[in-house]
Parts: sequence; structure tokens; C-alpha cells
Amino acid sequence: MAQFTCERKLDFLNPNQKQKLSRRFRSSHEKIMPHELAVFLGVKLSQADAILIALDSAGLCNMRLLIFHTCAEAHMSSINFGIGFPPLPWKCPECGQTIDNYDDMSFDMVALVPEPVEFI
Ligand SMILES: [Zn+2]
Repeated sequence: MAQFTCERKLDFLNPNQKQKLSRRFRSSHEKIMPHELAVFLGVKLSQADAILIALDSAGLCNMRLLIFHTCAEAHMSSINFGIGFPPLPWKCPECGQTIDNYDDMSFDMVALVPEPVEFI
């Protein structure tokens, strides 16, 4: 099991929250979204983002940027997080519309966790 040291970057986490995180990241191949993690831990969304981005930087998870179009509730595609937004124009694979500004799109993140992580 990989270990992640929370001090400095994630110093807002208390011991109880670290325990909860370790439980949440106990199984392999988890998919975790920031808003879900924020509710689970009782932290701000920006703090949940910070946890997942810190894990991604440490190579302990793989962050993906989910791309949504207004035509559907489900995400249409995903790209690696950290390379920016998808280049425009973007063609929606669902409705076929060619989109030339980001107003008709929305984005979310998901962390794919390949192996269990213990937060210490
Ligand atoms: Zn569409």
C-alpha cells in the first residue's frame, strides 16, 4: 500500500479525516470525484480538489478532466487533467454539434486510484 504524508500541503486535515481518507482509498481502482470527497470529509470543494491534485502530483492517482456538453447529463469525454481545456472547436460525440466557445461546455474532475493509499 502506498503512503501519503499530509503535512504542509494538506495540513487542514485532522487525524479523523485522514483515517476516513485512508478508508475511502482502501481499495484499488476507485473513482473519486471532488464534490463527493468534499461531502464525505466535510471539507470545502477547493480542499477536496487540493487533496486529489496533491495525490496526482505524487503519482498516486490519475486525474481526468470530464467534459460535459449541454445536450446531456453524462460526460462526453475525458482528458488527462493538467494539460488544460480541450482545444476549440470541439465536436460533441453525442449530438455532433461543433462548439467554438466554452460557455456550452462544463467540466468536472475524477481521480482514478490504481492502488490503495494510506494517509499519514
Ligand atoms: Zn452534445
